[in-house]
Amino acid sequence: MPVKAILTDIEGTTSAVSFVFDVLFPYAREHLPAYIRSHAGEPAVAAQIEAARSESGESGADVERVIEILLGWIASDRKATSLKALQGMVWAQGYRAGQLKGHVYPDAVAALKRWKQEGYGLYVYSSGSIQAQKLIFGCSEAGDLTPLFSGYFDTTSGHKREADSYRRIAAAIGLPAGDVLFLSDVVEELDAAQQAGMQTCGLAREGGTLGAHETVASFALIDPARL
Ligand SMILES: [Mg+2]
Repeated sequence: MPVKAILTDIEGTTSAVSFVFDVLFPYAREHLPAYIRSHAGEPAVAAQIEAARSESGESGADVERVIEILLGWIASDRKATSLKALQGMVWAQGYRAGQLKGHVYPDAVAALKRWKQEGYGLYVYSSGSIQAQKLIFGCSEAGDLTPLFSGYFDTTSGHKREADSYRRIAAAIGLPAGDVLFLSDVVEELDAAQQAGMQTCGLAREGGTLGAHETVASFALIDPARL
């Protein structure tokens, strides 16, 4: 079946896991408290502080307590919606200030550019917020890569390990799931996409294979026309 669109994960796929854990999360952890204290009165930030109170069940938490809660969520890798939104705001500030540059593997940059030229629709599906996705690609070490992508999906489309999420994304793209190639470094995500009818290719940058999925170590080895 011919591939018409390519849907890619970010973390561990287009970009190093270490960028997220060694650069982005520490940056957010370091800058989040001051950012919240100085922007707590702005509607967008106030709304997320309120959402964090609601998500934590601590409706009376003051701003300092909310900061504690958020730092706890970062430490336990809890992907709370309010935390992700606030991290996105902190990262946006860092990217705009030039303190952050998104990591994208050079082989991924080259392949994405080639596939775009060849007429494939390119889409992103990551558990990071859509805003964070646009920042990684928009302020990347290779420049602004956002013109390559036709759409972005996050967990508002559903969990990455559930087949229904991929069915919803295919519908949103406007293609039968079988026309979409999904790229990821996590076998459970590839399984879910395959269950929804998508074609799959695993990225294992250290080598090895991901379940029964075709697995490669670099984007340079992916030929969507041959799948
Ligand atoms: Mg991943």
